[in-house]
Amino acid sequence: MEYVSTRGHARAVDSCRAILNGLAPDGGLYVPDTIPALDPGLLSSDLPYPALAEAILKPYLPEYGALVGKLTEQAYRVPQFDCDAIAPVRALCGDLYLLELWHGPTCAFKDMALQLMPRLLSHALKLTGETRKACILTATSGDTGKAALEGFRDVEQTKILVFYPEYGVSPLQKRQMATQEGANVAVQAINGNFDDAQSAVKAIFSDPALAAEIADHAFLSSANSINFGRLAPQIVYYISAYRDLVARGAIRIGEKINVCVPTGNFGNIFACLLAKRMGLPVGKLICASNSNNVLTDFLETGAYDKNRAFHTTISPSMDILISSNLERLLYLSFGAAFTADCMAKLASVGRYTITQKEKALLNEDFFGVCCSEDETKDTIREVFINEHTLIDPHTAVGVFAARRYRERTHDLSPIVCASTASAYKFPQSVLEALSAPVPEDEFAALKALSEKTDTPIPKPLAELSGKPVRFSGAIEKTDLADRVKRFVCFA
Ligand SMILES: *Cc1c(COP(=O)(O)O)cnc(C)c1O
Repeated sequence: MEYVSTRGHARAVDSCRAILNGLAPDGGLYVPDTIPALDPGLLSSDLPYPALAEAILKPYLPEYGALVGKLTEQAYRVPQFDCDAIAPVRALCGDLYLLELWHGPTCAFKDMALQLMPRLLSHALKLTGETRKACILTATSGDTGKAALEGFRDVEQTKILVFYPEYGVSPLQKRQMATQEGANVAVQAINGNFDDAQSAVKAIFSDPALAAEIADHAFLSSANSINFGRLAPQIVYYISAYRDLVARGAIRIGEKINVCVPTGNFGNIFACLLAKRMGLPVGKLICASNSNNVLTDFLETGAYDKNRAFHTTISPSMDILISSNLERLLYLSFGAAFTADCMAKLASVGRYTITQKEKALLNEDFFGVCCSEDETKDTIREVFINEHTLIDPHTAVGVFAARRYRERTHDLSPIVCASTASAYKFPQSVLEALSAPVPEDEFAALKALSEKTDTPIPKPLAELSGKPVRFSGAIEKTDLADRVKRFVCFA
C-alpha cells in the first residue's frame, strides 16, 4: 500500500514516510491508495483490544510487519488506560450507545491515537535510516496538545512544540499543558484562535526556506490529524464498538448501525468513514457540530464558507472553521484535481461550493446537525438526571445530534455516539449545566463536580494540582516561525 496526496502533485510514499512527513510536500494530506477489506471474522472475535488493533492496522502499515502488534501492545494497556476494555461501550436509553474514548492518560479521545502514533513515528525513523531529529509541531484546540506531549515525551530522536490559543482552551486544559513533564517538550500560547494557530503551523510546513535552514539539525512533522498516523488508530475503535454490540446481543452481524461523532477537524469522523469503506456495516455518519456550524451548513447547502463569526464555546475542541480532514473526504469522493481547486479557493477567498449532485453523494454517508450552547447544557443536565451518566460538553453535542437525527429521519437503527472527553476536563461548564455553584479555581471545581455527581476525579487530573507550571506567556502569531527556529536549533 502506498500513500498519495489529496492534491495530486506529490509522489506516493510508503507508510513510514507518510507518518514522518505529516503533510505532503504539495500541501495536501496523505491518503491510502487502496482501502483494505475488513476481515468479517473480527466482528465476532474476542481478541483483546491491542490484538484487534494489530489485525486492523497491519494492512495500513506494511513496512512495520510484526512491529505493529508489539507497538499496539505497548500503547493500549493498563495503567496508561484505566480499563482493559480500552474503549468501552455504555448503553443509554433508546438504542443509543456511548463509545467511551477518554480512558487514556489525558482523559480525551486523542490518546487513542497519540499513545500509538509516536511509537510508529519513532520506528519510522529507524526503518527509513533517518538520523536527524523529528521536530513535531502541533496546533491544538485543547486536547491534541496534551495528548501529543504525553505521547512524545522523552521519545528518542524527537522533540515536540505545541501551540495553543491563549483564550481558546479551558483552564484545566491549559494547566495540563503548562505542567507537562519531559526533556524534549515545549508549549507556547499564541494570541489568536485555533484556526490562526493551525494555519500558521501549516504555513511553516510548506515554507521551503525554513526547512532548508533547519535541514542539518532536524525535519518538521505533525501530530495533528493531518498526519495519517493519527487517523489510522482511530479506525479501530469503531470496529471494536460494533463487535461489542454484537457480543451483548444488541445487533446481529451485518445489521447496520449509525455513528454520531462530535466533530471539529473532521478527523475522528473520517476514521469512521474508512471503517465503513473497509466493510463495517455503518449506515449514516452523523456529523455533530457546536455553534461553529460550518460543516452542518456545508452538508446542507454544498457551500463551505469560513467567512463567518467565530464562536468560543463550552466545547472548545470543536471551535474550528477550517476543518482540515474534509479535504480527505473531497479527495475520496471527487479526486485530486477537484480537491486542489477547492483548497485553493478556501485559501484565497475562504469559500468553495460543490454542486447539488456532488452534495447528494456526500449525503449518502453524512448527515450534519449543530447544537447551540443552551442545547449542549440542557443535554448534559438531562442525561445526568435521567440516565445517571455524566457527559462532557463535546459528548453532549453528539448526544443531542444523535437524537435530532432520529427525530428528523425516523431512522431507528442503533446509534453509537463517540464520547470524546471526560466531563472532568471541563468541570466548570459541566457544573454550570448541572445548575451547581461554579468555583473559580479549577481544582476546587474538580472537587465540586465529584461531590455533586458522586463520581471519582480521574487520577491524571487529580494529580495536576501538585505539579509546577513550566510554560507561560503568549506570543503573536507573526512570531511563530521565529519561535519554531529557536525551538529546533537549541538543545
Ligand atoms: C479533538 C476533539 C474533538 C473533535 O475531533 P476531530 O477529529 O477534530 O473532529 C471532539 N471532542 C473532543 C473532546 C476533542 O478533543
